[in-house]
Amino acid sequence: MSYLIAEVIVDVSTYHVDRPFDYKVPVEWSNVIEMGCRVKVPFGPRNVLGFVVGLKNETEVPQNKIKAITQILDIEPVLTEEMLLMAKWLKNETICYEIDALQVMLPSALRAKYEKIITLQEENDALPDEAKAIFGKRQQANFKEFERAELLPLLKQLITNKIVKIENVVKQQGNVKEIRMVKISHNQQDIDRAMEGAARAAKQRQLIEWMGRHLGEVLLPQIIYAETGVSSAVLQSVIEKGAAHFIQEEVYRDPFTKEVSRTQSLQLTDEQQIALEAITTSMEEQTAKTFLLHGITGSGKTEVYLQAIQKVLDDGKEAIMLVPEISLTPQMTERFRSRFGELVAVMHSGLSVGEKYDEWRKIQQGKVSVVVGARSAIFAPFTNIGLIILDEEHESTYKQEDSPRYHARDVAIWRSEFHKCPVILGSATPALESFARAKKGVYNLLTLKQRALHQALPTVFIADMREELQKGNRSMFSEQLVEAMRIRLEKQEQMVLFLNRRGYSSFVLCRDCGTVVQCPNCDISLTYHRTTEKLKCHYCGYEERVPQICPQCQSEHIRYFGTGTQKVEEEIYKLFPEARVLRMDVDTTKQKGAHEQILQAFGKEQADILLGTQMIAKGLDFPNITLVGVLSADTSLHLPDYRAAERTFQLLTQVSGRAGRHNKHGEVIIQTYTPEHYAIELAKIQDYEPFYEREMFLRRRSSYPPYFFVALVQISHEDVMMAAEYAGRAADWLRGNLSNQVAIIGPTAASISRLQNRYRYQCLIKYKIEPNLIAVLQRLLAMYRAEWIKQGILMTVDLDPSTI
Ligand code: ADP
Ligand code: ZN
Ligand code: ZN
Repeated sequence: MSYLIAEVIVDVSTYHVDRPFDYKVPVEWSNVIEMGCRVKVPFGPRNVLGFVVGLKNETEVPQNKIKAITQILDIEPVLTEEMLLMAKWLKNETICYEIDALQVMLPSALRAKYEKIITLQEENDALPDEAKAIFGKRQQANFKEFERAELLPLLKQLITNKIVKIENVVKQQGNVKEIRMVKISHNQQDIDRAMEGAARAAKQRQLIEWMGRHLGEVLLPQIIYAETGVSSAVLQSVIEKGAAHFIQEEVYRDPFTKEVSRTQSLQLTDEQQIALEAITTSMEEQTAKTFLLHGITGSGKTEVYLQAIQKVLDDGKEAIMLVPEISLTPQMTERFRSRFGELVAVMHSGLSVGEKYDEWRKIQQGKVSVVVGARSAIFAPFTNIGLIILDEEHESTYKQEDSPRYHARDVAIWRSEFHKCPVILGSATPALESFARAKKGVYNLLTLKQRALHQALPTVFIADMREELQKGNRSMFSEQLVEAMRIRLEKQEQMVLFLNRRGYSSFVLCRDCGTVVQCPNCDISLTYHRTTEKLKCHYCGYEERVPQICPQCQSEHIRYFGTGTQKVEEEIYKLFPEARVLRMDVDTTKQKGAHEQILQAFGKEQADILLGTQMIAKGLDFPNITLVGVLSADTSLHLPDYRAAERTFQLLTQVSGRAGRHNKHGEVIIQTYTPEHYAIELAKIQDYEPFYEREMFLRRRSSYPPYFFVALVQISHEDVMMAAEYAGRAADWLRGNLSNQVAIIGPTAASISRLQNRYRYQCLIKYKIEPNLIAVLQRLLAMYRAEWIKQGILMTVDLDPSTI
């Protein structure tokens, strides 16, 4: 008797054989099972999760050896045919396990515990007897009750005939999330009593008095701190005295917390019109063109996206709109919701597991046609895509750092070819790779040179912090910035202070001459290693002791760089005790909704200063912001990464773009110890192309992308000798198997040389054309999987590392 055979990719991560295994499909299930369904199968001594990636009638596995599928987890496939193809492509493109590629396309809820509920759509009478017996008088049953072999085909039939509906319900997270709010008492007597209790505590009295003017209100603690300037300790004491109490506010599983009003399409400027027409023409032609929309900040790129998406919806198709996680501000999602209403799903890391699943389901069931989301939304299970957009396409968050190490831009282009639809890559400061491709004609370049409301770009000033030091000013604010802040406070205009915190405390800088200690062999600053008290270059392995005096000017004013937002906040209050500051960083935005509340408060002008990290660099569009201060441009400039200058230029341009977006003119003050650096000089004139030319010249000179490709092999072990030993073996092996056109640098210690108690080494591969590369790396991985892994080695390969 012949069986249907399923090819299954199994979820086994310990010792991996990355190919599908054949399993027998029990006869009753041959009409139930489909490609893209999840199953349980026996693998060794265990029962493991697997994905059906193929169905066939024959197998080479002998009859007496082949095992059978034990459980079917999905009646409707969770993966489309496109996704199964995409997984195969991802596996090759990023050298990952196929199972990782399959898993990354699904919301985590489908990996966690959930319950499947079957709901009756018709009268009970329509049911065959076996099903009637299960439902009894109920409208709902649990999938488990149908899980017996002979009942699954029946269930499948009922679903196909729409007599019942199947829904997955994520139980584990609950449908309600809670956040902590402060509820001020309704009762004046409580306030008076607290006031008596706080007789001698001036700050507490100040807060209680303020609460007396806000009886009965419910507020986020953050907002109270900003409004009154008190600390959390003061609030805590006042709460103990009974003037207010903490409550848990429930937030339901609708990621949209409030209603938005509808907006209409704007009348486009000529530049916008030209860009839109190019895009819509290619939609009509059904070609997979990639457009690079290069438009300065405030030039109206988003309006172009919105109108292009409108056209997609008019054609009855679907659109994916990707934004970097950090710019997924409520403002951004609101702009989409106000144009397309209920047709929009939103996906980002701020949603609970359950919410993410709900949004995914809406997409899968065709209840929405637009998804606005961060990186993983590129896998949205749409089946008729008409347009894919990556806003701020240069952002490094589009690259995933775990397996599968994919770049959303590459996935977007792959899907656009599958669906024969255009891709828009939008940015004021495109990645060098993208602009180079546009110049070559691989991408189609569209340019917006004017701001949409015809405002001038803000005026940018550079504050030389070395001069400040000579004047005796050792604070983190230049005189110029303090003066500009004072003026804004007087005029009641708002400002944004940006603290660039990447690379916290990791490089050494002389405060007198601005020298950053560099590697003698590379154009890269040395990284300070706390454990060994040494400075290291992790490109070439060079190292030296931390200097006590500056090698350039012999000054003793040497320090490790880095300042926290909290410290800055304290300093602001010292300078301007009356200023109202909202701080936005990882600490103040942990709670769900906090991000949104802070921005709303700032939008309502309940604060003068928004102080924050990367999070505030993008997406903000508030009319009253007339000053942007960058506290230290240097922090990202001296990261030991060949993209450091590019990242700094991009960041400075982005933050500058927050100022003067409407009718008031904006000013930007960039503080730096290295005003002569080209990334800073060119950020001052806010002109992308001169920067591009300059940076491309340097990249060519030092053989970096986009002229060369780089790949990174990382090896780690708990024992430092083992890690070094095997990294050496990997390097030798690569040298022996790759052509002599390829440069292999290393092994060198990784910039974080020990992570989670594992020592890390790396080899950098630089190449121009090396057709064998993937095959060679795959053989290296096979060797690792077969032998090295048993020695406790972990190895990863990244073909497009976003940081090195
Ligand atoms: P970008 O995404 O390029 O930074 P935005 O799309 O945010 O620019 O546009 C900046 C501002 O200009 C927004 O307030 C937007 O509403 C407005 N705007 C954009 N296009 C137009 C237009 N054609 N007419 C009027 N206002 C526009
Ligand atoms: Zn070096
Ligand atoms: Zn010096």
